[in-house]
Amino acid sequence: MTISEIIERLQAGNANFVKDKLASENNNSERREILVGGQQPFAIVLSCADSRVVPELAFDTGLGELFVVRVAGNVANTSSIASMEYAVAHLGTSVLVVLGHQSCGAVTAAVGGGDHGDNLNHLLAHIGPAMHDLPEGASVDEVIRKNAYLTADELVQRSSIIAEAVKTDKLKIVPAYYYLDSGEVEFLNKSSA
Ligand SMILES: [Zn+2]
Repeated sequence: MTISEIIERLQAGNANFVKDKLASENNNSERREILVGGQQPFAIVLSCADSRVVPELAFDTGLGELFVVRVAGNVANTSSIASMEYAVAHLGTSVLVVLGHQSCGAVTAAVGGGDHGDNLNHLLAHIGPAMHDLPEGASVDEVIRKNAYLTADELVQRSSIIAEAVKTDKLKIVPAYYYLDSGEVEFLNKSSA
């Protein structure tokens, strides 16, 4: 599939999910058997760990189709970047969706501030740039969207593998926003960031 075909496939799958009409048949023993020898996922999704956000369902996909990296706040840290680099460099995956979502607890905690202990403080620090990039008093929802945009940029800045793939049109990074209530994924227009 070309990059635009992959994005269309993701949008069509999401439309199925929104309408309660999941159609993927790639979740059975036959599919598992086929995949034993290797994987060729068509998209990478950097998603929050939130249990309400399940990329494989939201895009109506089955086994071996999405390379999903999950971390609270869908942030770019060394481990999440390295995981995505693997898919870009070794699996040839050509679309990367950074999927923020409605009512993200990690972003809410970052906006609220305070001490959450070393580990969570470290993670929430990755959301800091999105907060600082917006006027004071910006809503959690605005920070969630900004965080998806800035994370997309950060992947290029911090990874020479990802940067090279984007530069040579082998990879397209798309920030997106998932609505918990409708299940809809809104692909965000980079130029409006
Ligand atoms: Zn979240």
